[in-house]
Amino acid sequence: MKIIFDKKYFIEYDHTPAGDSGRLEPAYKALKDDPQYIFVNPKPAPLGTIERAHSIRHIKEIKKNNHGFKIKLYDIARLAAGGAILCADNAKTGNPAFGLIRPPGHHASYDSCWGFCYFNNIAISLLHLRDTSGCKRAFILDFDLHVGDGNKNILEPLKDYEILNPHANNEESYLKLVKERLENAQDCDIIVASAGFDQGIDDWGRLLSPNAYFRIGAMMKEFAEKRCNGRRYALLEGGYNFKKMAVNIKSFCEGFR
Ligand SMILES: [Zn+2]
Repeated sequence: MKIIFDKKYFIEYDHTPAGDSGRLEPAYKALKDDPQYIFVNPKPAPLGTIERAHSIRHIKEIKKNNHGFKIKLYDIARLAAGGAILCADNAKTGNPAFGLIRPPGHHASYDSCWGFCYFNNIAISLLHLRDTSGCKRAFILDFDLHVGDGNKNILEPLKDYEILNPHANNEESYLKLVKERLENAQDCDIIVASAGFDQGIDDWGRLLSPNAYFRIGAMMKEFAEKRCNGRRYALLEGGYNFKKMAVNIKSFCEGFR
């Protein structure tokens, strides 16, 4: 399976927990020596692809933002969106991909953003697919701890997108809910994940074990193979216990690949 990644994602780009130094190194180390994973570098998303999901005003706002870090926010956010697009382009031909990218995107709406997000990677990549391929309808499983209000803001008015933000009090009911919703999902061309790991047992949400992430990955794979010709990709969102996040990402990928 392709892992879409660039070493520029290691560079600290803001003062949020998502932009902190050292966040992606453990996950990179956990995946890089496994021959199952092929690392591929993305290009920054072309402006036109970002404009499908965001207002010109919002894009200009991000461009203006410069906190004096080694990499400009606009540049790293464009590279994350480019990583999402590369995942989508792999997935449309039935090749699964995981985007080990940052900044995350699911709290970025059409004309605003918060929650450590700037550009909406899921929306940009899905709208790219809508306009350039036969993949028009998508099921979005957002298993981050937080509801992806940006995904909803941009995609829900467009009708072709079904979004699930599972909520449950324990792991078994969480997994049961995901299973049931996948079984009853509308027809779609692709399944994607807003893959946040802050719902992990050792992270902010304190709910899901590494095995639960494996099972979520495996359910998505099974769904993709049965319902949409294997088309699937997942993009990293939250996750703040960096070492445990690496274990959970690896487990998810083992089920998903
Ligand atoms: Zn989150």
